[in-house]
Amino acid sequence: MKPQVEIYDTTLRDGSQGEGINFSVADKLRIAERLDAFGVHYIEGGWPGSNPKDIQFFVEAKRKKFKNARLAAFGSTRKKGVPVERDDQVRLLIEAATPVVTIFGKTSMLHVKEVLRCTPDENLAMIGDTVRFLKDHGKFVIYDAEHCFDGYKLDPDYAVATWLAAEKAGADFVVLCDTNGGCLPDEIAAITRAAVGKLNSQVGIHTHDDIGLGVANALVALEVGAVHVQGTINGYGERTGNCNLTSVIPCIALKLKKTCVPAQSLPKLKELSQFVDEMANLRHNPRQPWVGSAAFAHKGGTHVNAVQKIAASYEHIDPALVGNRRNVLISDLAGRSNIVMKAQELGFKLTNETPELKAILNRIKQLEHEGYEYEAAEASLALLIGRTLKHRELPFRVDAYHVSMRRNGTEHVCEATVKVCVSGKTAHTVAEGDGPVNALDAALRLALMKFFPQLQNVTLTDYKVRILDSATGTAAKTRVLITSTDGRREWGTVGVSENIIEASWIALQDSFEYKLYKDEEKSPPSPSGRGSG
Ligand SMILES: [Zn+2]
Repeated sequence: MKPQVEIYDTTLRDGSQGEGINFSVADKLRIAERLDAFGVHYIEGGWPGSNPKDIQFFVEAKRKKFKNARLAAFGSTRKKGVPVERDDQVRLLIEAATPVVTIFGKTSMLHVKEVLRCTPDENLAMIGDTVRFLKDHGKFVIYDAEHCFDGYKLDPDYAVATWLAAEKAGADFVVLCDTNGGCLPDEIAAITRAAVGKLNSQVGIHTHDDIGLGVANALVALEVGAVHVQGTINGYGERTGNCNLTSVIPCIALKLKKTCVPAQSLPKLKELSQFVDEMANLRHNPRQPWVGSAAFAHKGGTHVNAVQKIAASYEHIDPALVGNRRNVLISDLAGRSNIVMKAQELGFKLTNETPELKAILNRIKQLEHEGYEYEAAEASLALLIGRTLKHRELPFRVDAYHVSMRRNGTEHVCEATVKVCVSGKTAHTVAEGDGPVNALDAALRLALMKFFPQLQNVTLTDYKVRILDSATGTAAKTRVLITSTDGRREWGTVGVSENIIEASWIALQDSFEYKLYKDEEKSPPSPSGRGSG
């Protein structure tokens, strides 16, 4: 059934233009997968005409199957004076091979005259030609009307003419953009209402948060007839950011009571928000509405008291609806159901009655206290649960490792030795690498491959280091997050230690162990015990 409001995520395009945000292709693919699982309707993957990384993203994304979302490539209308079929940037949009293409064009006479420096008619032709060309190539076309509200305020007739040019050429959506982010809600409402009245095509809204109204402006547009909202997870974006989807989604579902993402996804909102922060290597903002750790924290004594008596007294919703929790009486109940849900998602037959549940919860709590985060390291979480349930033996044991670095003049070399034991047999290997982690990875892989040749296909695709705040006054801890792939799927593992090498080592071991564990799931070991493969 079609939802009342469609969610268009542009974290990977508009969001990645934010200060301090830099996603690798591997990051983008993992984020796209999560967004799809969460149930957004469109994922804007990037602008192939603007950088080679985005071209590469679309090449790799072709191999992925998305269940819920349709992938969109972003670009602009053709250049002035250039026939659309000869415009390179438009050609790249076709080559991205996505079902959806989103293009932006000029709405404002100011931009047509002063920035683009072409005639008003040429701008209309640029819009019409490009939309028609993309439609002729079988694309679902979303037309983003840039500077839409400012343009309308300056010259309403011309603004309407640009929307109609897109509609006449076949655009499936006309999206009104508050590109500079400076409009007030009543202006957004009035102009959106005018657009909905003039257009037969469906209308969407794209807002920015320059005056702190990104979410509010999107909501008023939805209330007067827009049916599609564009934004980014955690509000990433240029300047002060875009409309924050982690706020706008629960507002649509729980406040406006309209359907958007699948109902069962909403309790995974906090997790999605933290996952994307982890991928961006940013600290999660505790004051973030809905999903921040302080969003339902109660400090004042009377509040705590009242909340214990009746939650609704100081909470606008039940925090569990968005996967958050009350932060006062570390709610065991909430923790419990979150873990059970997560474990089931990871394939474990865990229920509230499982006797090991308490031990798993305690272990997670203790590790989180030490600095572990599992939002982007589900493989490590799966191993932790599996180990506690004692479903299996450890596939290998590491008896020792050593890593050293030498520098001769300008040359440096790292060397690692690793000793592992598998089913009573030992392997001792040495390997070199560009850096200590690289050398350790090579040595461990070499040792394990003697027993498990399938590890040859495993490669590290991403490695992130975060220095954690020291709460205890002792040395600061380091959290290392590793993304690995075997060519078919990707997984994340995590390690924490005061020593960066040790933290990396923990994450590395988990990465290999997880691969073996997943392969074992596919072909269960014979009842007489495991072979050494
Ligand atoms: Zn934007």
